[in-house]
Amino acid sequence: MAEERVDAVVVGAGPAGSAAAIAMARAGRRVVLLDRATFPRDKPCGDLIGARAMAWARRLGIAEEALAPYPRLAGALVTAERGVLDLAPGGPVGRILLRNSDARVIPRLVFDAALVAAAGRAGAELRRGTVREVAAWQSEGNAGEGGRVVRGTGPDGAFAVQAPAVVLAGGYGSRVIAPEMTEPLARRVVTRESQPGIATRGYFRGVAAPPDRIVFCLNDWVLPGYGWVFPLPGGGANVGVGTLAGPNETGSGREPLRYLYHRFTTDPASPAAAWLAAATPDGAARTWALDLGPRHRRLVADGLLVAGEAAALVGPLTGAGIAFGLESGWTAGETLVRALAVRDVSARNLAPYGRAIRRRFSPWLRAEGAAQRFLTDPGRLNGLLNALGPLPATRVLGARLLLHLG
Ligand SMILES: Cc1cc2nc3c(=O)[nH]c(=O)nc-3n(C[C@H](O)[C@H](O)[C@H](O)COP(=O)(O)OP(=O)(O)OC[C@H]3O[C@@H](n4cnc5c(N)ncnc54)[C@H](O)[C@@H]3O)c2cc1C
Repeated sequence: MAEERVDAVVVGAGPAGSAAAIAMARAGRRVVLLDRATFPRDKPCGDLIGARAMAWARRLGIAEEALAPYPRLAGALVTAERGVLDLAPGGPVGRILLRNSDARVIPRLVFDAALVAAAGRAGAELRRGTVREVAAWQSEGNAGEGGRVVRGTGPDGAFAVQAPAVVLAGGYGSRVIAPEMTEPLARRVVTRESQPGIATRGYFRGVAAPPDRIVFCLNDWVLPGYGWVFPLPGGGANVGVGTLAGPNETGSGREPLRYLYHRFTTDPASPAAAWLAAATPDGAARTWALDLGPRHRRLVADGLLVAGEAAALVGPLTGAGIAFGLESGWTAGETLVRALAVRDVSARNLAPYGRAIRRRFSPWLRAEGAAQRFLTDPGRLNGLLNALGPLPATRVLGARLLLHLG
């Protein structure tokens, strides 16, 4: 099979892959952005595009028309055994603190397609294809020069594209397609540090939840995970439950995930019951795993960088990964642009990417992990909410924190 040669191949056109493709295409590089799905495509998600992610999306050139139907969020409601905490500051201080907060709920079907379109406008070439293999590095000429062949299957059969720069951004579980990144499954030890997450999400119509607040339900029976009701225009909502995965990835809480989701969405005693009483499901619920970070994972090899959830950049407390995906993808793209300019894409020259990602995200991911372990205990969680709930500052700081998480 004849191998086409381009400057860069990006595997996966989610937030991380699109951001990487935009960074390289804007620098004038010929980029092929490969995804096994046809866009617009659904990705099981809470669809909460936090303030950081929104800022990145704008920087990447997402079209305003795509965002316009989805209003800015004004705050959050947190339910727990103690009752409901309304984190929606109304006063002047709150308005000042939230003035730059542009968090929204936007279905990934819409958001990711708009990002892919931005990548196309920047000059990247989107192609449909399932990547089966990223071949080992072949050096040629001087040190740091060479390339990899990316092989897969597309609508027209098998394909092979060669490039000196490859970004792996295939999301959960996708690292297996690069030889150096593969960890034997047995080594994916499930520990307190690195337990994966799992979540089920569905869309509903006729939801009575507040249209400008995201709802997090931290009631005892959902712990160590949480339930959510995230509003969509016209009385719709994205409703879901996420928890930590056990060894068989079905949820390690007291009840398997599918029962938790069923109970959350249908039980009259559920904290979401009042909002969902007259609601009807809009399509089937979907379940997907999350690579909660931080994890020891190789992010750099000759001519190759790993970004987004493939690099386990997902918050272990919140499950938020879109902002991490956008920022890490952009950083990967920028790193490769610099390396291509000096014709040295060796792992040694790309190593600053791995250090930058760890420096930038690991402290935050570790802090989320510590908070997750602390709040898993219902006694501690309820004690904290009882202590902080009545304080006026909680409304402002809580809203700012929750809207800036993703
Ligand atoms: C139920 C659920 C709720 C979530 N809620 C939120 C939330 O509200 N806010 C938030 O910030 N984060 C949330 N997350 C996390 C978030 O969805 C991910 O962290 C984010 O999508 C990661 O972006 P990514 O670009 O790295 O990967 P993805 O978005 O997973 O994109 C990867 C892309 O790669 C493609 N791909 C994979 N393998 C191949 C292959 N072999 N060949 C070709 N293409 C391939 C896929 O088709 C996909 O399009 C949630 C996750 C789950 C599961």
